Amino acid sequence: MTQYTKPLPIPNDFDRPYWTALKKHELRMQKCLDCGEIWFPPNPVCPKCLSHNHQWIKLSGKGKVWSWVLFHQLYFPSFSEETPYNVIAVKLDEGPLMTSNMVECNNEDIYCDMLVEVFFDDVTELITLPKFRPAGRPKEV
Ligand SMILES: [Zn+2]
Repeated sequence: MTQYTKPLPIPNDFDRPYWTALKKHELRMQKCLDCGEIWFPPNPVCPKCLSHNHQWIKLSGKGKVWSWVLFHQLYFPSFSEETPYNVIAVKLDEGPLMTSNMVECNNEDIYCDMLVEVFFDDVTELITLPKFRPAGRPKEV
């Protein structure tokens, strides 16, 4: 593996289970044991009912493109070879909205409501980033 030069997350006590699961190629988020809300980003308190009772559940990794942008501005030199690059907002089937990048797809082929599935990008020995690629499932009407 070549050296990874882009910015990397630094897991903390609140989100470490999220990063640990990604390393195992699982997308896990917190589900409230009192009201059933599933939320992202990680937070010790349910954003809907303020309960502290939750468990980390495994998600399907499937969702739809909710929105996307192409970044033409170079903020980090390590992105120079792939600028413009996409940033997508994915509405997961289980409800949460998360930002990521689309892979295995040309930027001009991204569209709203495009069906996607998670792709686990092992960028370093410690960090796996969740990215998305077009899902091979029939388009919903
Ligand atoms: Zn709740």
